[in-house]
Amino acid sequence: MKVLVLNCGSSSLKFQLIETDQERIARDEDLALARGLVDNIGSDAVFKVELPGRGVTLRETAEVLDHKAAVVRALELLMRPDAAVLSGSADIGAVGHRVVHGGERFSASVLIDDEVLRAIESCFDIAPLHNPPNVKGYRAAREALPGVPQAAVFDTAFHQTLPAKAYLYGLPYVLYERHGIRRYGFHGTSHRYVSARLARHVGREKDPSLRVITCHLGNGCSITAVRGGRSIDTSMGFTPLEGLLMGTRSGDLDPAAALHVMRKEELGEREVQALLNKHSGLLGLSGVSNDMRALLEAEAKGNPRAKVAIDVFCYRLRKYIGAYMATLGGLDALAFAGGIGENSAPIRERTLHGLEALGLAVDPGRNAGANGAEARISPDGSPVAIAVIPTNEELLIARDAYRLVAGLPLA
Ligand code: ADP
Repeated sequence: MKVLVLNCGSSSLKFQLIETDQERIARDEDLALARGLVDNIGSDAVFKVELPGRGVTLRETAEVLDHKAAVVRALELLMRPDAAVLSGSADIGAVGHRVVHGGERFSASVLIDDEVLRAIESCFDIAPLHNPPNVKGYRAAREALPGVPQAAVFDTAFHQTLPAKAYLYGLPYVLYERHGIRRYGFHGTSHRYVSARLARHVGREKDPSLRVITCHLGNGCSITAVRGGRSIDTSMGFTPLEGLLMGTRSGDLDPAAALHVMRKEELGEREVQALLNKHSGLLGLSGVSNDMRALLEAEAKGNPRAKVAIDVFCYRLRKYIGAYMATLGGLDALAFAGGIGENSAPIRERTLHGLEALGLAVDPGRNAGANGAEARISPDGSPVAIAVIPTNEELLIARDAYRLVAGLPLA
């Protein structure tokens, strides 16, 4: 089955066309037929579509005023003779949507009907930046592909297994009851995918006692403790702001510091949101960049603020790893994923340096050689298996959409 995977932002659309079915899933041979990005929707939108099987990239600029027009144009591109990965829209068996917030209602992916749509819309209040564009994407695809089943795959769903002691803040309980103020966690599709791959990597798939930590380190960063395939704690909270230091987000912060800055700098709510989400993190600390590659280069040239930003990043991650080892009562395996986790040997090394007494050892040769592909980086026989596991959220979204349409259980 060809599944169209959509990830809609406020003025952007990421999409993939993935061929999947039960046999392909069993053999791990799902095919990404196309990967595309549309930027600047609402004006002169820029389309970039890679066709991995052909080694071809299509580019074009077109006036595209809304998400529906972007979806229609993307489908046309996929049907063009020089792309030809789609013979017609009837070729698409399902659409899978990345939906950021499923609140407490969704602990797994679902097919979208009117009732599900209302439930997703009811999360607008707690995810005002993310859920509205996701719903736009759904409406666009429903109009462009009438009658094709559509699935929602939630970033929060995997973390719905967190116990109350992990998801409650130390605030008056009434605020949880009245406004849903609690930790939800995000990046759930990535943590679910990576933890399942890691379990397989160590030959302990479906082992209910397996204790795993997954580190998703991209522009956004989060870490999750997983026991027997279930998330038991994760670093992002009510919003994706909490936890690790990220490209432009502060991560953990005393809320009183934000209130103080609001007063001192005379900032309003929007400005403080932007400060914490867009101008902090690696970028804010270094004053150089939010990009880890640029920071490592600046540090090598002697830039002290690039160094301190990287130090905070690795230290915070190391602290969470220690905390989650305590949460899990020990550790069997740990995975690095995301652009930084998959590609940066120095960050992996710096984070875990000197933790041999906790069973965490990195083999320098293996670590240096592991870039972008699944690979073990701990020495053979080490108490904790440490691996690079490339994440693939789109693949899991496509598989979930396929399974829901085929009436198969979600793995
Ligand atoms: P997103 O969260 O937007 O999907 P990615 O997962 O692609 O982002 O991660 C982007 C981050 O990965 C950037 O900070 C980038 O610098 C970092 N990155 C990519 N390749 C490398 C590398 N070779 N060394 C260090 N960092 C890298």
